[in-house]
Amino acid sequence: MILIDGKATSAIIKAEIRAEVDQLVAKGHKKPHLAAILVGHDGGSESYVAHKINDCAEVGFHSSLLRFDDTVSEATLLAAVEKLNQDTDVDGFIVQLPLPKHISVDRVIETIRPAKDVDGFHTLNVGRMALGLPCYLPATPHGVLQLLKRHNIKTTGKHCVVVGRSNIVGSPLSILLARNAEPGNCTVTLCHSRTPDLAYHTRQADILIAALGKPGFITSEMVKPGAVVIDVGTSRVEDPSKKSGFRLSGDVAFDEVAPLSSAITPVPGGVGPMTRAMLLVNTLNASKGEIYGG
Ligand code: NAP
Repeated sequence: MILIDGKATSAIIKAEIRAEVDQLVAKGHKKPHLAAILVGHDGGSESYVAHKINDCAEVGFHSSLLRFDDTVSEATLLAAVEKLNQDTDVDGFIVQLPLPKHISVDRVIETIRPAKDVDGFHTLNVGRMALGLPCYLPATPHGVLQLLKRHNIKTTGKHCVVVGRSNIVGSPLSILLARNAEPGNCTVTLCHSRTPDLAYHTRQADILIAALGKPGFITSEMVKPGAVVIDVGTSRVEDPSKKSGFRLSGDVAFDEVAPLSSAITPVPGGVGPMTRAMLLVNTLNASKGEIYGG
């Protein structure tokens, strides 16, 4: 059984980015600049954004953070997005989700210039992804593809079962893995909460991707021996033995599924660090004008 180490793989990717940034800067290119908009004080969002800012420092990017109170009006937020669209020093930016209920996430994302949409959430990037055109891929699905690729896990001709159809994880993964590419060329089954007899489907999987947000949901009876198992789930589970009072749990019952599988990602240390690394890849590409021109 191969333990697919996302932490180590993301460290390699970050070192590759750092080397490229050093070369660009030595040639007189400005540092890539990632900006983030953070609304409110949600603990999860605060910590995600702090990690993203640390990652930028690690790879030699410039980063900036615009903070707003959770009472901010939609108009003010849209004006901030527009300002970042116009700022020639900012190569790419993200608006950390979730946003307060009075703000339309769709309107905010649609206002981001696609060339700066390094989360890959704008409809233009999503549409280009679906058509197989150059675009910013969403970070988590892109991270999963990189894990498969960098662990020499061949996908062509395999049956991939994805559990969860969200716009940011399950649906794009199902599209990317069905594309005529490697990683890709899978026969894909996309399951969700209305799928009857889910275990029947998951047991068919050569590659099983769990992205439903239910800790320990995928048990050994749901997995075919020899399957590759990718666990995207990241839920906080109470754990009095931890200083924080919680631990992170994946959607897969790791201890019982790991011995069955041919390769598996742990949680934490699997898909999570790859998601962060892929945001940096998109930002580097934005700074080079790789997708939409300089
Ligand atoms: P989401 O938007 O809540 O979507 C969950 C999906 O799972 C939905 O499509 C839902 O079906 C499906 N689902 C829920 N219960 C199910 C069940 N019992 N059987 C079958 N399908 C079921 O979640 P998300 O944003 O994709 O996130 C999924 C998990 O990945 C969460 O734990 C999240 O924290 C984690 N995540 C991790 C990363 C990372 O970097 N590691 C990044 C993003 C998300 P319906 O559509 O029918 O409701």
